[in-house]
Amino acid sequence: MKYLSTRGYPDRKQFCEILLEGLAPDGGLYLPESYPKFTTNDLANLRRIWSEKGYADLAFAILSLYIDDIPSADLLALCRKTYTEQVYGTRDIVPLKQLDDGFYLEALSNGPTLAFKDMAMQLLGNLFEYELARRGETLNIFGATSGDTGSAAEYAMRGKRGVRVFMTSPAGRMSPFQQAQMFSLMDENIHNIAIEGVFDDCQDLVKAVSNDAAFKAKYKIGTVNSINWARLLAQVVYYFAGYFQATSKDDQKVSFCVPSGNFGNVCAGHVARMMGLPIETLVVATNENDVLDEFFKTGVYRVRGTVDTHETSSPSMDISKASNFERFVFDMLGRDGARVKSLFGEQLSKTGQFDLSAGIVAARIQYGFASGRSTHGDRLATIKSTYESHSVMIDTHTADGVKVAHEFLAKHPKPKDAESVPMIVLETALPIKFASAIVEALGVEPTRPAQFEGIEALPKRVVNMPADVAVVKAYIAKACD
Ligand SMILES: *Cc1c(COP(=O)(O)O)cnc(C)c1O
Repeated sequence: MKYLSTRGYPDRKQFCEILLEGLAPDGGLYLPESYPKFTTNDLANLRRIWSEKGYADLAFAILSLYIDDIPSADLLALCRKTYTEQVYGTRDIVPLKQLDDGFYLEALSNGPTLAFKDMAMQLLGNLFEYELARRGETLNIFGATSGDTGSAAEYAMRGKRGVRVFMTSPAGRMSPFQQAQMFSLMDENIHNIAIEGVFDDCQDLVKAVSNDAAFKAKYKIGTVNSINWARLLAQVVYYFAGYFQATSKDDQKVSFCVPSGNFGNVCAGHVARMMGLPIETLVVATNENDVLDEFFKTGVYRVRGTVDTHETSSPSMDISKASNFERFVFDMLGRDGARVKSLFGEQLSKTGQFDLSAGIVAARIQYGFASGRSTHGDRLATIKSTYESHSVMIDTHTADGVKVAHEFLAKHPKPKDAESVPMIVLETALPIKFASAIVEALGVEPTRPAQFEGIEALPKRVVNMPADVAVVKAYIAKACD
């Protein structure tokens, strides 16, 4: 399989090249030249792999269609090393929890940092270590986080040969649990940098360093943000695992509801659907930052400025623009790279928006998308009702998904004689990560997995810095000497 850029750059690349590269040279995102398509027979085969051999082998079966520059035996070993019962706590890795008849949560948050980002990042860590060793190279990951991405990256890269992580975060702004998770890591190759400022200041530092080609080359700076195709690809697997658990036949349909921010998670659902997984609807759930809900309702994509990006109680979905959205628009526009380049490369930077309203109704039907939004009040009410009716505690992001899924089902009732379509809401984090909202909703502290008992009291390894690119660069240079 070769990879192309969404903005029409003529070169085609191999998987391991784009693994370490991130953005394409023309500023576009990488996608496979085509999506391999499964028949019903293929699905039956995959179902057998899932039930007889488990998640890691299912992951290999899917990933091997997209990765032909890692020998099969090595790729299988990497998948088996990543998705273990020991790390995820269950043999199924992503078990379904039934809430109501035909209504499920898919547990994606049993990895080391208790958010779904581990599902992809843990594989990325093993892929990076493998490929860097093969090339005899090193990589310094420089990133910005408001919480979940940074900790998932650090837990994936800790102790890995050839990789260092420099992770900036806004000082004092992550939840106490998130700070403790990151800052208690004592691994030599992990560097926590608390920046005096807000998340945008951290992102600006990352941009400033990325724009300094000489520094970037000298210190081998790379990223692990959600535009990396390998992360998206790893996420495709759990759509299949969810499907096999919710159905018994390979022509049955399901729908997924996905708490969304940068459109990475739900874009993986789009890829799964393009590969022939029988998904009826992909419901995009947003919080008050409803850029994506607005697009799927109106066809107008309008990015927000810093002032009208809300700080919410589902902070991992607080986005002003959705960095993976360009991939879907590329498919929606018949893979017309020139048009995508003009929309994302020119129009968006000039006017802050573009209008695809003429095609949105057809696209919603063709690609099976629907959307909805949720607010702080909805979130608290949903956490409360889910706890009272099912004794299940959900986090604020998952609550946005549950709220929007219920609303979608109420608006689209199935005719009496139609086959029912299970709804699977992706559980994107565990409640302990966002304790204050849980206390506000339920009046009790969220349950804490045993391995995180007392982490707030552990010694912390973090350096404080002003939002000054020269200071940050000097720190990286010193650490690399
Ligand atoms: C990152 C994240 C999201 C948003 O996922 P995207 O791939 O950016 O759409 C939702 N919930 C949680 C808990 C997250 O960490």
